Amino acid sequence: MSFFGRRQKRSPTPTGSLSRKNSMTDADGPNAKPLYLCSPFADAALVNGNFKTIVMLPKYVNDMEWVAVNIYDFYTNLNEFYGCITECCTQHSCPTMSAGPNLNYLWTTPERKQVSLSAPTYIDSVMSSVQNLIDDENVFPTKSGQEFHKESFPVTVKHVYRQFLRIFAHIYHAHFHQILHLRAEPHFNSLFAHFLAFGREWQLLDERDIRGDPSTPVGVGLLWERWRSSGKLES
Ligand SMILES: [Zn+2]
Repeated sequence: MSFFGRRQKRSPTPTGSLSRKNSMTDADGPNAKPLYLCSPFADAALVNGNFKTIVMLPKYVNDMEWVAVNIYDFYTNLNEFYGCITECCTQHSCPTMSAGPNLNYLWTTPERKQVSLSAPTYIDSVMSSVQNLIDDENVFPTKSGQEFHKESFPVTVKHVYRQFLRIFAHIYHAHFHQILHLRAEPHFNSLFAHFLAFGREWQLLDERDIRGDPSTPVGVGLLWERWRSSGKLES
């Protein structure tokens, strides 16, 4: 539960003017800190503590099975969160897959062409392609006796993980005020911190994925740094 919520009444539904405002910043102008980096929102969490213990391989569990189960859980949870704000993520509000002041992710087509898609189209494409992978017994085997593919499975999950990071980064950048209005920031932060901890433990995310290029930084790269310096995440 949000301790913030106990002191303050639930915020009203976003007004037209608020939803048109650049959600990256607060009311102080374009150079102000994004709300997700401000107290108390940046540190709101369901539980305090380090995530190391819940990302490590449990005894007697196959490592690929463990990664597969976690990918499935992150997929399900991220889908639920996106479902809550999907009405606000439209072709009109989010014509690009933005994730920082100068960063718009491009989608790579099967012909290896980089194209700009609106955020809802980009996110739908990621979610349906991941759903197809999860349903594919050759990629995510569920029957006993069937093995994970030793070479291709790690490559596939790393790709999926990077796409999930982009969805988190877009939601934080463009829709954090809607997460706040739902008073869901402790849940969303906890999910993202768990996601980052798991990604680092299993080498599914490179530092560069989280930070972005210096000229086009990922907004949540700073949140990652903040959580590392507070000890929430391993440095
Ligand atoms: Zn959006």
